[in-house]
Amino acid sequence: MLRAFVKFAALLALLWFPHAQAAIAISSTRFWPAEDYTRLTIESRKPIRHNMFTLDNPDRLVIDLENVELGDPLNELIKKIGDSDPYIKSARVGHFKPGVVRLVLDLKAEVKPQLFDLKPVAEYGYRLVLDVYPAQPPDPLMALLEQPESAASEAATLPYATGQPAITAVDEDKLLPAQDLSAGKSGQLPPAPDTTPNLPEMRARTLVIAIDAGHGGEDPGARGRYGSREKDVTLAIARKVKAMVDGTPNMRGVLIREGDFFIPLMGRVAKARKVNADLFISIHADAFIKSKARGSSVFALSEHGATSTAARWLAKKENEADLIGGVNIAMKDLYLARTLLDLSQTAAINDSMKLAKHVLNELGDINDLHRGHVEQAGFAVLKSPDIPSILVETAFISNPSEERRLNDNDYQTKLANAILSGIKRYFAQNPALSKPKIALLN
Ligand SMILES: [Zn+2]
Repeated sequence: MLRAFVKFAALLALLWFPHAQAAIAISSTRFWPAEDYTRLTIESRKPIRHNMFTLDNPDRLVIDLENVELGDPLNELIKKIGDSDPYIKSARVGHFKPGVVRLVLDLKAEVKPQLFDLKPVAEYGYRLVLDVYPAQPPDPLMALLEQPESAASEAATLPYATGQPAITAVDEDKLLPAQDLSAGKSGQLPPAPDTTPNLPEMRARTLVIAIDAGHGGEDPGARGRYGSREKDVTLAIARKVKAMVDGTPNMRGVLIREGDFFIPLMGRVAKARKVNADLFISIHADAFIKSKARGSSVFALSEHGATSTAARWLAKKENEADLIGGVNIAMKDLYLARTLLDLSQTAAINDSMKLAKHVLNELGDINDLHRGHVEQAGFAVLKSPDIPSILVETAFISNPSEERRLNDNDYQTKLANAILSGIKRYFAQNPALSKPKIALLN
């Protein structure tokens, strides 16, 4: 009798259990391939338990998802992962065993994968995110050096040769005799452009302008009434600024973000510092609840509070990019460790203010100004201790007529031209030739 009851109870449990633990539906999947890293996002209403491991011969990445529905969103993700991705060759998904869906990615190269969860934020539910980093990350400085030279004379004036060579930062009494430096130690020093330390300061050198298209990937930024996304508009304008900067003698532009993928704010700062940028320009489009708000603005960092409530509100909104774009905590710590946090930013802020005023003046010739002066607040993306950095809110994407202009090719060119003119005026009054630089040897 008892055995019969146990059997009956077991049968009941079998019948009821699947209902109590209905498989989690995946609401959407996204795929963001890029050279910097490739990201896969799996979004759902409930958090997904997961397990990841790698397999060799051939190299594969395996992700087991517990108790999820194998439906259209996962199948679509597989279709999205084409051969165009730099790191993933192909992908497949299927039931591995009861209660486990397995995702297998065939790899093209050695990678450093990171799998992490994000809690619901803004329009997003729970997100399970896989970031596939190359084992050997691309070096933005090398990429810059490998760009074709427009003039042979520029060759000797690119980044490492621009500021003080690292050797000048070494204490005099620690310097070895010249013959010792050349014997076996050369691999530890950056290529010295010149044996005379004063020479690089006396000739024109290539100025490196870091151009940062705001938002990207999971983080669309603000949206216009006609559906335009801030991340697309900012990238289009940033590309134009880069082309114009590259067309200017002794200037070279570096795009911090080259495609539709997300870069954490600290990562943007780190990339600009890696290429030893002379200036950092972050390009955005403003938004407000009232569609009448209009005009261009330029911002600099503040170390001691915001200059207005509106500036504080905007900085908070722009800094939320990391929450929406999705930052793995482990990576955030890595960026923090790489950035010099305790250095005073006062000197850089003074220069940032000068640059901001020039750019704001130029923007005033092609658009209304939202406010007649430069404002300051705690923008995370402007926190380079040694690079003058500004954030340009080109126009209001939430204002229908400004949204239309932000999408207009000619107007984008005008905006880019105004930014370049501001940069040129800044350098005309603040020559960077004698500016000391912090040597970046990582
Ligand atoms: Zn923005």
